[in-house]
Amino acid sequence: MLTDRIDTDRIERRLEDLWEIGRTDGGGVTRLAYTQEEERAIEYVVDELDDDVTVRTDSIGNVFATREPDAEQSFFVGSHLDSVYNGGKLDGTLGVLTALEAIETVEQVDETPPAPPTLAIFRCEESSRFGQHTVGSRGALGLLTVEEFSAVDEQNVPLWQAIQQAGFQPENLSEPTIDLDRVGAFLELHIEQGRVLDETDNDLGLVSSIRAPVRYHVTVEGDEDHSGATPMTMRRDAVTAASEMILSVERIGREAHDDGDVVATVGDVTAHDGAINKVCGSVSFPIDVRSNDVDFRDRVEEDVLADLEDVATRRDVSLETELLDRSDPVELDGRMIESLDGIAESMDASHRVMASGGGHDAMNFQHVGVPTGMVFVPSIDGISHNPKEETTTDAIAAGTELLARAILEGPPSA
Ligand SMILES: [Zn+2]
Repeated sequence: MLTDRIDTDRIERRLEDLWEIGRTDGGGVTRLAYTQEEERAIEYVVDELDDDVTVRTDSIGNVFATREPDAEQSFFVGSHLDSVYNGGKLDGTLGVLTALEAIETVEQVDETPPAPPTLAIFRCEESSRFGQHTVGSRGALGLLTVEEFSAVDEQNVPLWQAIQQAGFQPENLSEPTIDLDRVGAFLELHIEQGRVLDETDNDLGLVSSIRAPVRYHVTVEGDEDHSGATPMTMRRDAVTAASEMILSVERIGREAHDDGDVVATVGDVTAHDGAINKVCGSVSFPIDVRSNDVDFRDRVEEDVLADLEDVATRRDVSLETELLDRSDPVELDGRMIESLDGIAESMDASHRVMASGGGHDAMNFQHVGVPTGMVFVPSIDGISHNPKEETTTDAIAAGTELLARAILEGPPSA
């Protein structure tokens, strides 16, 4: 039985070991991209591999490990080991360790997968250090631009330099570091990072699409005045105008939620030179609107911007909206979702098909046409990027089994 071979104790032992690398006082993990900690975490996983596994490290430090490097097609499974500042022990690490366990399980059964598996470990998935997400997988697929490569960290170290300092020699950026014709499929397990699975009592989420954001930086300018000396009718108050705008972002998001997939968020607000005895003259805040449907998101975005203009006109303040990001949502491979759904069904595992709210390495593989699937396990109480991040052992076991069975079933095309 395949289930008997999945060793969740081994996964948890490895999780504990990796937790030590970059562990913080608060019980979290800080393992930033292209640091000693990320390197040590990768070395740890590579050390866990059997001697006859071929390990290839590409020109930006991604690791690909397989027993059959010359196979015509391979089934790629994996995730990332870097973390945010004081993140949790799971995140991408669980995706790497369940992929490893699934591969080890498949190797023990009397069945030959149509395409032998490759364990993939991507560098720099988190944007915490350079403000650039999924650098490793984008680099592996030839999707990085020179501009992105020049992004700097807090110490002004450019990404390309950090990669070199970590001992790698990036080559032609537009050239994939892996032979895409050989990648039959890509599958990634990750914690959900939201509360949907936990609140609906499901062990597994099968990701149908990955939401992508449109993001703005908004600045509202009024007049800076003395709070005691300026009558209510003579004010151009940036704080109250911004408050009304922020509430309208929420209202439009809530109303639109009934008609399609969308979330709209203002996650920060700055009152510039604000004080208790002032009418504040300048406020800025970000807007993040995400959907798995780009047309629907465009409509919501239009509504939000129109509403902001209305508030600004009515309150006689000036408004500036700067576009920060406009990314495309990704639909994952329908055949992969169907096959994962069938496997989850046959396993009798509680599961649901759902959209992913966050971006992942998987989206880049689908983007270049590799049949791609993603599996979520619950984040207890929706907690993510936090030392309190947790999931259940049952979900880890179910997720690993799903990966193993998917590898045995093979890529959709095979
Ligand atoms: Zn992650």
